[in-house]
Amino acid sequence: MLRGLMMDRPLLVSSIIDYAAEIRSDTEVVSARVEGDVHRYTYADSRRRIARLANWLRAYGIRPGDRVATLAWNGYRHFELYFAVAGIGAVCHTINPRLFPEQLVYIVNHADDRLLFLDTTFAPLIEKLADRMPKGMRPVLLCDRAHMPETGLPDPLCYEELLADQSDTIVWPEFDENAACGLCYTSGTTGNPKGVLYSHRSTLLHSMGMLVAGDGIGLRPGQSILPVVPLFHVNAWGLPYVMPLVGTRPVFPGPKLDGPSLFALMDQEKVTAAWGVPTVWLGLAAEMRKQGRAPAGLEIVLTGGSAAPGPLIRELETDFGLDITHGWGMTEMSPVGSLTLLDEGMKRAPAEKRLGWKNSQGRRLFGCDLKIVDDDGNRLPHDGVAFGELLVRGAAVMSAYFNDEAASAAAHDAEGWMRTGDVARIDPDGFLYIVDRTKDVIKSGGEWISSIDLENAAMGHPAIQECAVIAASHPKWAERPLLVAVLKEGRTATADEIRDFLADKVAKWWLPDDVLFVEELPHTATGKLSKLQLRERFKDHVLPTVEG
Ligand code: ADP
Repeated sequence: MLRGLMMDRPLLVSSIIDYAAEIRSDTEVVSARVEGDVHRYTYADSRRRIARLANWLRAYGIRPGDRVATLAWNGYRHFELYFAVAGIGAVCHTINPRLFPEQLVYIVNHADDRLLFLDTTFAPLIEKLADRMPKGMRPVLLCDRAHMPETGLPDPLCYEELLADQSDTIVWPEFDENAACGLCYTSGTTGNPKGVLYSHRSTLLHSMGMLVAGDGIGLRPGQSILPVVPLFHVNAWGLPYVMPLVGTRPVFPGPKLDGPSLFALMDQEKVTAAWGVPTVWLGLAAEMRKQGRAPAGLEIVLTGGSAAPGPLIRELETDFGLDITHGWGMTEMSPVGSLTLLDEGMKRAPAEKRLGWKNSQGRRLFGCDLKIVDDDGNRLPHDGVAFGELLVRGAAVMSAYFNDEAASAAAHDAEGWMRTGDVARIDPDGFLYIVDRTKDVIKSGGEWISSIDLENAAMGHPAIQECAVIAASHPKWAERPLLVAVLKEGRTATADEIRDFLADKVAKWWLPDDVLFVEELPHTATGKLSKLQLRERFKDHVLPTVEG
């Protein structure tokens, strides 16, 4: 081998904010705040406050590798924490406030966080858990003195006061690009949450991989993205890193994430693209129907995190003229693995064909290798028909969980590829179709029924607002599908009507044995349907097809 003669410069997160402060200096960062107003500054202003924060963190005694936790909505202060903490070589541990309190206590202790930066909204939550927090973990409230709440938190610090006394310049330290920069725990539907430790290198490479997608996902200089995806989970799909690189104007939504609030903020700030999970788009679509239009200026919706129902994609595209990109990823990656990016020729294809591609989970990003395997671990062809477990490999894919040998042992196959827990097929053009999660697929008489496909078909019924299909036990078939649905406001439907509607859309033996209507469906801490809770709730439900 002849070694290349290029500089061995480490890929560090700090270089992103330096680039933005220099090249994207005037680009605005907008935040709807917990305080109730809208805050604005530029990337150059942001870099100065990040320097102040980094200087304070060092003065406080935060060392490389220390974990610093955040419990906050999407806003400029949370964004500052991402860069200040990582910049000095410490690890920004984002905590999902929707986790069960037990899980929250587990993860701050497992991570051994030294500081906890929290929005005032979350003060009561942490107050209740204060005696179970790591010893010496100091709370910092993300506000100024005037907004400091009355709180029983031990020795709370005030964020704006910490910044006030510090210098607004810093020369970032240089260190190994494999150092950790971020930590995020999976919501852990079973067992304890597991920590994924992102490195500076993986973060930079993932960000650059996302740049390839560019225009199709709203990453355009000077235009605005509204990240509904939270900074508190899987790095808001990479947005805090990739927006400053491109010079995209973030419009951070703060705590109000319901359809009408999002619609109003998008309208007001002329947001061009918005990213979030399908549940959010169901809420926004309901508001768009009410108003008879999309928010002014909105062009692109990126949906991911769980399967986007086909009828939702169709409605947003056809009725509201939006361009939908569907993506797949997971916490154990940085996190985006695939996006429905269409070639120019594909964009000109007839609408039905285009919608077909958009209903897939897209094509892999550069740097993320995919394979599907059968039960014995043998590779399956990418012929669009064969399906099996999906495994991934890449520089932005996890190699082991943080301090969790037991969980890490089962995470990879013998060749070092990471198991996703998803069942998928891949077509010859590289489009990935997630069939189901291994634990959600319905095993009926030795055959598999995809809960996702059934939900997708049912979502086409005009009365259904949201639905989930789970396995219900059946003495003859082992499992049979049970559809649980929420109806749209003012609409009615019967179980037979829904089954009749599905009759020409899915195979006869896929038809749900029962359809139940509920007021609301349970969601996980990341806004996905919680099938675990649903299975628990309906575990004793006797299907009408069970002979008595
Ligand atoms: P959490 O549920 O804690 O948020 P992750 O974000 O890591 O965990 O979830 C990743 C999983 O979400 C994937 O393995 C897959 O099952 C599911 N998922 C993500 N995006 C999609 C998508 N577009 N379609 C179907 N499933 C998806």
